[in-house]
Amino acid sequence: MGRYYQPEIETASREEILRIQNEKIVKQVKHVYENVKYYRDLMDKKGVKPEDIKSVDDIKKLPFLSKADLRDSYPYGMLGTDLKNCVRIHSTSGTTGKRVVAFYTQNDVDLWEDCVARAIVAAGGSKGDVLQVAYGFGLFTGGAGVHGGSHKVGCLTLPMSSGNTDRQIQFMMDLGSTIICCTPSYAAHIGEVLAEKGYKPEDNKLKCGIFGAEPWTEEMRQTIEKSLGIKAYDIYGLTETSGPGVAYECEEQNGMHINEDHFYAEIIDPDTGEVLPEGSKGELVFTSLDKEAFPLLRYRTRDICILSREKCSCGRTFVKMCKPMGRSDDMLIIRGVNVFPSQIETVLLNEGYSPNYQIIVDRVNNSDTIDINVELTPDKFSDIISENLAKEKKLEGAMRTMLGIGPKIHLVPPKTITRSEGKAVRVIDKRKLHD
Ligand code: ADP
Ligand code: ZN
Repeated sequence: MGRYYQPEIETASREEILRIQNEKIVKQVKHVYENVKYYRDLMDKKGVKPEDIKSVDDIKKLPFLSKADLRDSYPYGMLGTDLKNCVRIHSTSGTTGKRVVAFYTQNDVDLWEDCVARAIVAAGGSKGDVLQVAYGFGLFTGGAGVHGGSHKVGCLTLPMSSGNTDRQIQFMMDLGSTIICCTPSYAAHIGEVLAEKGYKPEDNKLKCGIFGAEPWTEEMRQTIEKSLGIKAYDIYGLTETSGPGVAYECEEQNGMHINEDHFYAEIIDPDTGEVLPEGSKGELVFTSLDKEAFPLLRYRTRDICILSREKCSCGRTFVKMCKPMGRSDDMLIIRGVNVFPSQIETVLLNEGYSPNYQIIVDRVNNSDTIDINVELTPDKFSDIISENLAKEKKLEGAMRTMLGIGPKIHLVPPKTITRSEGKAVRVIDKRKLHD
């Protein structure tokens, strides 16, 4: 059986969770309708009144919100309370365009930190742990969110922020960090630098890491676990719903439990908006059930994933989401074939390459091209051109089998691809420049 931060809710019966959700949604829709003019107009246009929402089953009657709505209503249009009741502002990383800002009351911050605390405890954290926060601190939600959750659990918190890898490693060693939290790409980089400095995985005191804010594959998990000598857990969230901690992995390391007492999740067909039956793959949509300052209803995340209600051995009853397969807007369409960067990462790591790569998409003579720069580790690096050519051909074959199209592979010397300290930029799509 598992370890919990708030066992009464994390292991509540399905009926109890539904009861809580039904009670909260009625209040929340009323709150939004009365306070957020932008959403009230959307509801009026759709002919839905707050009285029509009696339970979470009725959520499907409500209009969706998308990133475009948040940009339209920037900065204050989605505020659910007077600005003087707010204590914090965060903003998205702007990975896919103009940043949007989100507001928090003290109560919103409190509930958010509880969500992160659940994730830390699920990963094995408790009072007595030294938790190194290597997510960026600032407008980005990663640093502040994990920092707050770590305090709630009672860990000794090390607010490093991201970057300055030498100092990360010095403090990790000197102060005996037992848990590290950052983006998976930065964790892989820290592992790489540790090895370069001559440390073996067993030389550090780390027992686990909690990594999120960007897509990462199972193969990447294994790479990180090996290089740091830890268990690596996934955590998911987005600024629009608060930040990290919307969902988190338990000891099964097989999908993330969604904090359903705070967030109601749906999977929809991204083209038609139709709610899909359980187990279907589609776009994840969240309704915040109790946020005061930034209470988004039916927010379309653009993250593609599957929900599962299969019983989990950890004892938690919250629904699980699989690793997001990338955002719908991360998906590359190359000569009509859908390609996710995560598929490329899987092939590279399975073939024994490093997770340092970059995908370059372009259009030449009206035809899409895809090139992948793959960095060699010093032990694999060869000066003999024919050896490298043979390796490139082999990798191209493996890619063709996985993707259905053949990218051009370029093996590049060690240390030529920029390392990420936050969210990694894996794709450069030059086609956008021509449009
Ligand atoms: P931006 O949308 O500008 O990147 P955020 O920092 O709010 O701003 O990022 C939230 C997004 O990050 C999510 O919608 C999702 O696409 C991605 N993300 C967060 N956690 C994970 C995770 N564990 N696995 C995959 N993707 C994640
Ligand atoms: Zn579980």
